[in-house]
Amino acid sequence: MVANNSDENSSTLWVAIIGAGPAGYYTAEALTKDDANVRVDIIDKLPTPFGLIRAGVAPDHQSIKNVSRRYTATNDRDNVRFVGNMALGRDITIAELKEIYDVIVLATGAPNDRALGIDGEDLDGVIGSGAFVGWYNSHPDFTHLEPDLKVASVAVIGNGNVAVDVARILAKTSQEMADTDLAGHAATHIHSSSIKDIYIIGRRGPLEAAFTPKELSELNQLENCVTLVEENQLPPESIDETLSGAQKKNMAHLRAMTANREGDKPVRLHIKFYRRPMAILGDGCVCGLRLEGTRVEDGKCVGTGETEVLPTGLIVPCIGYRSSPIEDIPYDDNLGLFLNDSGRIDAQLYCVGWARRGPTGTIGTNKPDGADIAAKILTDITPSGKEGRLGLDRIVHDRDLQIVTFADWKKIDAAEVAAATHGAPRSKFSDVKDMVKATEA
Ligand code: NAP
Repeated sequence: MVANNSDENSSTLWVAIIGAGPAGYYTAEALTKDDANVRVDIIDKLPTPFGLIRAGVAPDHQSIKNVSRRYTATNDRDNVRFVGNMALGRDITIAELKEIYDVIVLATGAPNDRALGIDGEDLDGVIGSGAFVGWYNSHPDFTHLEPDLKVASVAVIGNGNVAVDVARILAKTSQEMADTDLAGHAATHIHSSSIKDIYIIGRRGPLEAAFTPKELSELNQLENCVTLVEENQLPPESIDETLSGAQKKNMAHLRAMTANREGDKPVRLHIKFYRRPMAILGDGCVCGLRLEGTRVEDGKCVGTGETEVLPTGLIVPCIGYRSSPIEDIPYDDNLGLFLNDSGRIDAQLYCVGWARRGPTGTIGTNKPDGADIAAKILTDITPSGKEGRLGLDRIVHDRDLQIVTFADWKKIDAAEVAAATHGAPRSKFSDVKDMVKATEA
């Protein structure tokens, strides 16, 4: 890797951002926009940039993915560099980065599924949303997941947008997914599945649900699948004037769904509120989910003692995520986050995005978050004559690491776009070796 340090001097501020997702890119954008003395290296364990835009945002939500053009513009600046296929812990340590760079920003997200903490969670057929979404989005860590979709019903636990995404991707037909970048291996499984009933299960009620109106409304526009809601689980219209705008819209969509009937379409999506998971049943593989009825008191979910068993062969908990701990960095095990004071971890170390605040907000929430961390860094840190890029290049050379540059990524991108068929925007590589091979073209 060739680095041009010719216009750099002892007043250059060297920043390494770990994680090339939205939080990392918005931080890089804010750091480099006005300050000619800042140089940023964005390091990612994958050979591909853009984090959740590529591996988290649903494949049928292509318009959201267009924000990657903005990150590309940031990376096209002379003072920003992408260093892909380099993993913290495997290829380099935080201590080494601290030697080379003035500042390190953890933009590592929250890639691990939160646990339900109930019996049966380890059975085959329980797949957390991080893994499941990664699987259908071609994330190399989850390509070989092979969930058994020859099941009659699926339980999706949680009332957030991820639960809605998972249910919708399982419900859509191959025609509805034709113009998406759904992973080929997932399309094969999903579109030959035996699923007839999909359940979205909320432990609280419709007013407490975290999903947003646009995402909810998409569930009532599925070609092959009818969405069913029990009317008696919805509040009366008389309370609408006390609701927020989003709640009002959600109630309107849910009420519209109560007019749907079971036989309207071949597949049914049931939205069930006021039920919390108590145990996952099965011997080796999942065969059911025990639920307890709930009511909401002071916003909290309280069990009623009434239980039921939902027969199901696949359970996808979509209940939030945790950051991956990193050796020697203080970590709050309860919250699943790095211990930080408004993004500051120590004198040289910051965190941003989900690694800072947990798995909340939309992609756009990371923009002010990135700007805030950039402003703190530019106020807190004085350049100290660190080696910067040349130091990283030396380590890459000495360890014979096969890193991927942004120019290399553009080759991967071009190969994926060229391989697309039937109106799809791209056909994604799902194996790191194939991605690296595409850079050699
Ligand atoms: P989320 O919005 O926080 O929803 C998590 C859901 O899991 C909540 O309904 C929560 O219920 C439930 N839950 C948590 N622990 C549970 C347990 N032990 N048992 C049963 N239910 C449990 O999280 P998310 O859906 O993973 O989304 C993460 C973030 O990404 C959100 O900010 C989301 O809006 C965003 N996102 C946006 C889009 C989009 O804009 N299209 C798409 C995907 C994700 P309680 O409320 O009762 O805790």
